[in-house]
Amino acid sequence: MGTDTLPAVDLDRITALAAELRELLGEAAVSDEDAALERVSVDGSTLSPVIMQKLPLGRAQLVVYPTDAEGIAVAVGAAVRHGVPITPRGKGTGNYGQAIPMAGGLVIDTSKARSIVEVGDGYLIADAGAPMIQIEQAANRTGQQVLMFPSTVQSTVGGFVSGGSGGTGSIKHGMLTSIVGGYVRSLDVVHAEPDARLIHLEAEQAHNYLHNYGVTGIIARVEVALEPQQPWSAFYASFDDFHDAFELIRPMAALEPTPRLVSADLPTLADALPNDEALPAGKASLRVILDESTIEAATRLVEQAGGTVEAVRPGLQNTMKLSMVSYNHPIEWLQKAYPGVYFHVEVGGDALVDRIDEVHEIYPGAMLHLEAMAQGTPGGMLAAPYTGEADLLAGFDRMRAIDVGFHNPHQWFVDYEPERSVELAKSTDPQGLLNPGKLVEPDVDTGRKR
Ligand SMILES: Cc1cc2nc3c(=O)[nH]c(=O)nc-3n(C[C@H](O)[C@H](O)[C@H](O)COP(=O)(O)OP(=O)(O)OC[C@H]3O[C@@H](n4cnc5c(N)ncnc54)[C@H](O)[C@@H]3O)c2cc1C
Repeated sequence: MGTDTLPAVDLDRITALAAELRELLGEAAVSDEDAALERVSVDGSTLSPVIMQKLPLGRAQLVVYPTDAEGIAVAVGAAVRHGVPITPRGKGTGNYGQAIPMAGGLVIDTSKARSIVEVGDGYLIADAGAPMIQIEQAANRTGQQVLMFPSTVQSTVGGFVSGGSGGTGSIKHGMLTSIVGGYVRSLDVVHAEPDARLIHLEAEQAHNYLHNYGVTGIIARVEVALEPQQPWSAFYASFDDFHDAFELIRPMAALEPTPRLVSADLPTLADALPNDEALPAGKASLRVILDESTIEAATRLVEQAGGTVEAVRPGLQNTMKLSMVSYNHPIEWLQKAYPGVYFHVEVGGDALVDRIDEVHEIYPGAMLHLEAMAQGTPGGMLAAPYTGEADLLAGFDRMRAIDVGFHNPHQWFVDYEPERSVELAKSTDPQGLLNPGKLVEPDVDTGRKR
């Protein structure tokens, strides 16, 4: 185990907890088999060469699979009574190590608690393990859509609101934590108490449980806001010069109605994506999920910039496909094409377009994957060949010098208002059993533990 790993729990307590969970939730809901424990002890952190070198960071000793929100509360209560640490888990796609059980103990895998409980006018209630794509499909059946979903469309709603930040829909609606009460309307959470139960929290209070990896409470049920469904199409354009594609990020994002997604890539990144005739080899790519009423205006923008419209494909299946090659995905595909070569840093700000050539000089061999983020502000990932953590950190000063905002993703600590989570966890998790190892004070500059 790596040096950051915490001591595991003694076996007697694990055995006693396993027996109680089998009693409470049934034989099939509990496993201590090696393959199951291995599977729930890793997440998407293989995307980070920095964290890769520190793996394994922890290993589950027991896993439970509740099938509904109430079962999640039962599992939490049992673990607390036995003093066993609890790491919640959705689909395990999160970056970067946040779902790794660093103190061993129990992993609550919510992926079988996937019911859509209710869909009404402007809202949808689902158990924490419901996949985001299933939520969007359920909303569409009532003529509605979710405001936003991540590019990992198979990930769970509980995992997204606990570990994610934004995605398709963010241009109009912003990022998860910036829209208090607007995305997550309410939550049913479970605190680390021996008689754990579902606690219903509305908007502002629910906000204290977002993007903090379950350290203040396990999310068992989520109510998300819905809006009227729109006729979306997947729009692909190509360019000889990537500057022309990047220049279009802001005008595309300014179309009305607002597009759901605008992504752009250099030829090397676009070539690494799954084969598609709408992604011609050697060309920069611009991809937009747009309302069908804006197809003409988008086409004009592309042609005026000297680009070619490669395809316009309507419908959910096509737009989901485009979501699934946005945000971190081009980096993941780049790593598949060039194993062991690239790392990335999350970046943002107008400088990404206005000073792109300087941005590419931040690291030798750097390439930007660009997205339109909230209100069309450019954001994305800067990928470059990995030459060590010291070189990676040294790039941050160069970013500050040219007004590039950045977030170091190569760490697993709660970094969204951690003070707030520390304060709340004193009452909701007095024994420190919830996702241990994640709630420490990070250094905002380096992302390392202070
Ligand atoms: C290639 C790639 C692309 C990605 N693109 C995006 C993107 O576009 N937007 C984005 O926001 N993220 C993105 N991510 C990160 C991640 O995939 C998403 O945030 C995803 O929604 C997480 O959901 P999950 O079910 O996989 O959660 P997990 O990875 O299982 O969990 C995420 C975190 O939340 C905790 N957690 C899980 N369930 C609960 C619960 N019920 N209660 C409390 N805590 C819980 C876990 O312990 C962990 O700390 C990407 C990751 C990869 C690898």
